[in-house]
Amino acid sequence: MLLWIGSSPKWQRAMFDVETIKRNGLCAGCGLCAGIADRSDPAIVMETTDTGYRRPRVVGPVAPALAQQIDAVCPGANIRHERDEHEAEYHPVWGPLIAARLGWSTDTELRRNASSGGGISAILVHLLASGEVDFVLQTAVSPDSPVRNALAVSTGRDDVFQAAGSRYAPSSPLEDIAAHLDKPGRFAFVGKPCDVAGLRQLARIDPRVNEKVPYMLAFMCAGVPSYAGTSALLKEMGVQDESAVTAFRYRGDGWPGFATARLADGTTFKMDYDTSWGHILNRHLQFRCKICPDGIGEFADIVCADGWHCDESGNPLFDEQDGRSIVITRTARGEALLQRAVTAGTLLTEPVALGSLEHMQPFQSRRKGMVVARLGAMMLTGWRRPRYVGLELARNARRLGLKALARNLAGTLRRLVGKETLD
Ligand SMILES: Cc1cc2nc3c(=O)[nH]c(=O)nc-3n(C[C@H](O)[C@H](O)[C@H](O)COP(=O)(O)OP(=O)(O)OC[C@H]3O[C@@H](n4cnc5c(N)ncnc54)[C@H](O)[C@@H]3O)c2cc1C
Repeated sequence: MLLWIGSSPKWQRAMFDVETIKRNGLCAGCGLCAGIADRSDPAIVMETTDTGYRRPRVVGPVAPALAQQIDAVCPGANIRHERDEHEAEYHPVWGPLIAARLGWSTDTELRRNASSGGGISAILVHLLASGEVDFVLQTAVSPDSPVRNALAVSTGRDDVFQAAGSRYAPSSPLEDIAAHLDKPGRFAFVGKPCDVAGLRQLARIDPRVNEKVPYMLAFMCAGVPSYAGTSALLKEMGVQDESAVTAFRYRGDGWPGFATARLADGTTFKMDYDTSWGHILNRHLQFRCKICPDGIGEFADIVCADGWHCDESGNPLFDEQDGRSIVITRTARGEALLQRAVTAGTLLTEPVALGSLEHMQPFQSRRKGMVVARLGAMMLTGWRRPRYVGLELARNARRLGLKALARNLAGTLRRLVGKETLD
């Protein structure tokens, strides 16, 4: 039963098109479908919806070849490991894993500005400084609004510094991917786990990806809140008029730092991380994130996460500290890169016991099991389920236990019954 829910019986292999993906709540907003469509006469464009998510809109005929590609690579509809692609042992909870460490940037300003220890940014700075890549494709604050995200092309430390930090709001970093693959030069890609899964799945049908993108980096992700979450956060922080905000960060400037909004007259509003993420933003997650089997960036060469310190009972502490990232290498290429960054002096690392990760990342350690129950609820209520392959979901469900499975099944059933669309 568990295996059947987590795998893909024949009828589940019917094609996924953009509308089916959206209607069944499977769109993650990554932009890949629009990114591989013909740019000169686009059939699909990305937009921010009234509900504050990023979604594709079909504006012209989708050619059969494009439809097939979307069906195969969309990470909302597919999270598929192909075993022969693995260079690393597959840990049932933590995915393909060569080594796990704690790490932080040796650039103290960057470490402070970054989300946790600046692990991702330090690796990017090394990649650019050493000339291993010509640019980095990542997400930064939009030049048009301090409360919106935009794709950024970084070519040096200062660009990486500007883009550092977590932006708990939608991003579509694959929206222009074909155009970037067509450009001269090689680049590193940073994204949410679903973005990276999408790009890795694209590599299976587009050889330019492996030629042009030698490194894919991800951060662990508990889900993407809508821009309505940002508005709710600003309101709770005391901001009366969102359009008056001139600078905004969700966290950072310390670890975890504070959500901070500044107005033109210098008035500043702040809220601690536990309240902003734990009580406001995480109530605005899109449905696809609730059934995400890969919050841990299994398709990345390197993934970073918060290396929270824990109390005596093993629970994460969110009081201010010097930033510290968990840094997991998943491919031989990623491990070699990490070692070069350490040798070059951009990153400091120390060992971490694998067993301590479940205390630092308790949600991520239970997530794959929860997803099985939630997919079961989708099955019972007749929604199309994504194709999840090679993720050890059944094993994680057994590990989670019947009580938690039942709770997740019931909660998701309540959410799904009577709905006409999940988008
Ligand atoms: C939506 C979201 C959910 C998260 N969930 C978790 C979690 O479950 N567990 C956990 O430990 N940490 C989570 N984080 C925080 C993130 O994992 C930490 O940033 C991680 O520790 C990496 O820290 P760092 O200091 O190495 O990153 P930095 O050096 O600060 O680099 C962060 C990178 O993330 C990119 N980025 C920021 N926001 C976005 C976005 N919305 N879309 C795409 N790229 C973006 C930036 O371009 C930058 O390259 C989440 C962050 C986000 C944005």
